[in-house]
Amino acid sequence: MRLYRIPLLLEQLFPNRLWEGPRTERSLYLTFDDGPVPGITDFVIEQLAKRSQVATFFMVGDNARKHPSLLHEVVTAGHGVGNHTQHHLAGWKVSTPRYLLDIQLCDETLASVLGDAPGLFRPPYGWMSPFQASAVAKEKKIVMWSLLGRDFDSSLSSAQCLQGICKRTSMGKILVLHDQEKTLTQVKNILPDYLDFLIDQGFTTQVIPKF
Ligand SMILES: [Zn+2]
Repeated sequence: MRLYRIPLLLEQLFPNRLWEGPRTERSLYLTFDDGPVPGITDFVIEQLAKRSQVATFFMVGDNARKHPSLLHEVVTAGHGVGNHTQHHLAGWKVSTPRYLLDIQLCDETLASVLGDAPGLFRPPYGWMSPFQASAVAKEKKIVMWSLLGRDFDSSLSSAQCLQGICKRTSMGKILVLHDQEKTLTQVKNILPDYLDFLIDQGFTTQVIPKF
C-alpha cells in the first residue's frame, strides 16, 4: 500500500504541529515545497492565477536568494510563504544550533522581500529532532501535511498520481507538492487537472494562516 495519508498515531505524537485544517468548510490547503525554481514556480503561479486559487510555498532560502523575482511574484499574487531552511537541511544530520542558524538565514532571505520573517515552518524531509522541534515551535507554526502528493515518485504515471490525490481529497486536507526540478514534469502534468477537479468538487483553496 502506498502511503498518501499520515497515520493518526503520528498526529497524536506531535500535537504541536499542524497536520490538517478545519473540516467544517470545503477548504483545502495546497502547499509547494523546495522552490522557488524558474520553469516550475512560475508555472504554478500562473495555473493558480487562472483559476483564482491560492497556495502556501515553503521555500528553500537559497533558492529564494537566487530567484528573488519569483519570491516577489508569489507574494504579490497573495500566496503564503513559509520557511523550509536555507539549504534544505536534514535535521538528523546536523546539531540543533546549526539547524536553527539555517532557519534564521532563510528568515533573513525571505524577510528581505516579505518585510517580516515568515511565521510558518516545514522541516525538510518532514523530520526534526525533538530538541529542534521544540526550539522552532517557540517562534513558528510547524506545518506538516495530511496528503502527500507523491509527485516525486517516478514509478507513478501522471494519471496514477492525479488519481491518488483526487481520491484522497477531502475537507481541510493539507496537500504537499513540490516546485523543484525533479517534480517539474509531474507537477506540470497533474496540477491543471487537479485544480479543475477541486473547482468542480466545490473546494476553495486557502493560504495557511499565520501564527
Ligand atoms: Zn523539501
